[in-house]
Parts: sequence; structure tokens; C-alpha cells
Amino acid sequence: MPISSINPATGEVLQTFESLTEHQVEEKLNRAAKTFREYRRTAFSERTAMMQRAATILESEKKSFARMMTLEMGKPINAAAQEAEKCAWVCRHYADNAERHLADEAVETNATKSYIRFQPLGVVLAVMPWNFPFWQVFRFAAPALMAGNVGLLKHASNVPQSALAIEEIFRRAGFPEGSFQTLLIGSETVQKVLEDPRVAAATLTGSEPAGRSVASICGKQIKKTVLELGGSDPFIVMPSADFETALSTAVKARTINNGQSCIAAKRFIVHQQIYDEFEKRFVEAMKKLRVGDPMDERTDIGPLATEQILKDLEEQVKTSVAAGAKILTGAERFEFKDELARGNFYKPTVLADIPKDAPAYRDELFGPVASLFRVSGIDEAIELANATTFGLGSAAWTNEAEESARFIDEIEAGCVFINGMVASDPRLPFGGVKHSGYGRELSYFGIREFVNIKTVWTN
Ligand code: NAP
Repeated sequence: MPISSINPATGEVLQTFESLTEHQVEEKLNRAAKTFREYRRTAFSERTAMMQRAATILESEKKSFARMMTLEMGKPINAAAQEAEKCAWVCRHYADNAERHLADEAVETNATKSYIRFQPLGVVLAVMPWNFPFWQVFRFAAPALMAGNVGLLKHASNVPQSALAIEEIFRRAGFPEGSFQTLLIGSETVQKVLEDPRVAAATLTGSEPAGRSVASICGKQIKKTVLELGGSDPFIVMPSADFETALSTAVKARTINNGQSCIAAKRFIVHQQIYDEFEKRFVEAMKKLRVGDPMDERTDIGPLATEQILKDLEEQVKTSVAAGAKILTGAERFEFKDELARGNFYKPTVLADIPKDAPAYRDELFGPVASLFRVSGIDEAIELANATTFGLGSAAWTNEAEESARFIDEIEAGCVFINGMVASDPRLPFGGVKHSGYGRELSYFGIREFVNIKTVWTN
């Protein structure tokens, strides 16, 4: 089946690729397994030099990588350039720290000498989403390769150019042939790759159904998995908060990446004392956002990445409105008359008075749609924040120490940001609880996911 790169702003088919044949997949698996036997023995100093070179390529060519990402999946061009820079950061972070993160750890026991050694697992398959087409891959690949594993990438079918470009970056950086390979395959071929004995483990970033499928296949094969799935992050605003900063951050946190981020704030939970003012100003700010060509640096919101994503979002909003949610702004496509007429544009949307059975109450809405909730106090805020099956990120705005302490303790999520916007950072672990997945990426937790934690006991 062909895999196409389509500009979501115009509908233009940019490039089409044939997906790999069974024979080609077999060749790549063989190469990966063979490369691992050699690559695992490379010194940290060698891996570090290669990873630093990958970072340099990302930095020096960020403009062309950004252009490719924007054309292929529609993110605003400035954000795409920042994404390439952030990938360079994660490469340098692990180049500098991997050896320390994976150094032997001595433990005193009754042995003459006992310690823990961290060794690579082997070939790791990464199934990745399109929304941060470079970042999602690099945050897996940098620690995995630094740990001595080799990577196979099954990227989302709408970003084949990004997938191939990443493989090329590692090749140019000097990583041996076979240490990082892109598999241009559809999701229906993933099972076969996961079941292959040459594949040791898998990581998936994507939707809950895809995560369930990969985890159950790997469960049967007894293979380690890491899952980074969806989120419906709460953004709580209390009366003591710095209102102006909370408000402007709220708009940014909902609309980043055209609203298609797992850690975008999706449910705004606002104390009744400040709710009316927040609602009014938030709606005004959302209306002012500039929707348009993502290649134009003045654009705030570009198109959704595919037509299907646009249709799914429309459906979720329609169902929520039919259930009783009130539209404060938006809730329809953005129609252009020019070359953007076939683009997947959706108006920045705000919903309020959302009933419990509406998708906007607890599901993940992957686009520029905000759900507003009025609460009477902190107990109700925390209860509502946790009233979702997801548990990825969360943000709470308050200047009361006791309130902060309760948010930190009681919100069920992989992270809590107090008076700030949820963001990933190579130095801090990233991941979720509940149906947002398990395992962690980034920091030393991330590099220790795909290693054998080997106990060594000698007398
Ligand atoms: P998706 O449909 O699950 O796709 C993600 C990847 O999984 C793609 O490569 C896709 O391939 C593949 N895939 C889909 N179904 C599969 C299956 N049954 N078996 C094996 N592979 C399968 O997700 P998406 O819509 O592209 O991405 C958006 C979702 O990702 C959102 O829920 C978002 O919150 C989540 N996300 C999470 C994080 C995080 O760190 N927690 C970060 C970013 C995004 P095809 O493209 O070929 O179908």
C-alpha cells in the first residue's frame, strides 16, 4: 500500500512512497539484529561523538527540517524550528549524561563484590505519532542508541518524509548502518514485527487503541513495552493565581501545535470567584487567534494534520453540543476561498456547561477546542481534574501553599505543574498513569527503560 505525504493546508500530495515488501522488512530486521551484536560493544565515547554530530546536523539544518515538518503535518513554522532545536537538545543531553546514567552501581551485600550493571536489550521497535514528528522519535532514539540498543521506527503513515529524514540524520552522524532504520509500513504490519524474535522490546506513542494492541501482542511475547498514550489534561485556576499570566498561558496551552498535543491543556477548571472574567477574556483571546497558512510566521493555528482528525474532532464537538454543551465560540470549520480551501482548518472553539456524558467532559479532543468548567472550591476542582480515565499532565495556578500541596499530592497524573505550562524537558521524566500509559521517557528513567538491569554477585 502506498504511504503518502499530503500537505494538510492545501490537500496537495507532496510525495508518495511504496511501503516495504515482506522481503524488505526481513532484510531490515536481519540488519538490525546483526548490527546490535557489534554496536552494543561500542564505547560511550564513540556513541557520544555520533550523537553530538546528530545534534549539530539538527541545529545547522533546522530551517529545512522545519519546512518539511510544516508542509507534511501543518504545525506553525516557528514551532517546527523550535522542535528541531529541542531534538538537538535531547541528543546532547544523552550524549553528555548516558555514561553516568548507566554506570555500574555498587551495592554492599555478603558478596566480595556486588553491583548492578545496565546492558542494552537489543532491537527496539518505536511506533510513533505524527504530531511532533521529530521530537517523539528523538526522545526515544537518543537514549536508546546511547544505551547501546538499535532502533526500528514505524512512524505514522502521514509523515513518511520526516521518518526518512530522521534515519538519514543518524546515518550522516556516523551511526553504523542498521543501528537506526525506518520501516515504511502500515500499522497492520506492526504485529508481525513485534512477534519477530529479533525484536526485543517496543515503545508506542499514540492513541489508546494502538497502545492496547501493541501491549497485548508484546504481552503474549513477553516483551517489554513503554506506552505514551493520550491525555485530557486539567488546567486549574484558583482565585489567588496571577490571573493575567494564567489566562495567556491557558490560550497557549490549549492551542499549541494546532491543539494536537498529548499534554495540551484540554479542560479548564476555574474557581467560581474568577470564572466569569476568565470565560469572557479566554473567549476573546481564542477569537483573536490567527488561523491560516502554517508557513506564514504570523499564523497561530494551522490545519489539523489529516482530514480524518478534522472529522473526528467535528464529531466530538457535535456530540457534546447535542448532549447540552454550550458553544461560546467556534465549533465549525474555517473556510478559506484561496489555495487553503482544501485545508483541514477548524475554528478555535470554546465549550461550557458541559454535561458529564459529553465527549468534551472527559475524552481527549485533539484540536483547538477548550472545555470550560466552573467549580466552587479546591475539592471540586481536584475531583473534576481526576474525572477522566487519562492521567498524563496537569497544571494548577495558585499562590496558596496549602492549595499547591494538595494539587501536587492529589492529582492523578504523570506530572503536576504549578503556575506553569506542562512541557517536556530532557532532564525530567515524562509519562502517564491510568490510560495515559506506563513507563517513562527522558531523564535517567527514560534511558533505563530498555536495559537489562543485571545483578552481578561475585565471591
Ligand atoms: P495513533 O492512531 O495511535 O497512531 C500512532 C502510531 O501508532 C502511528 O504510527 C500509527 O500508524 C500506529 N498505529 C495505529 N494503530 C495501530 C495498531 N493497532 N497497531 C500498531 N500500530 C498502530 O495515534 P495518532 O492519532 O496518530 O496520535 C495521536 C494520539 O497520540 C493522541 O491520543 C495523543 O494524545 C497521543 N500522543 C501521546 C503522547 C505522549 O507522550 N503520551 C505524545 C504524542 C501523542 P499509522 O499512522 O500507520 O496508523
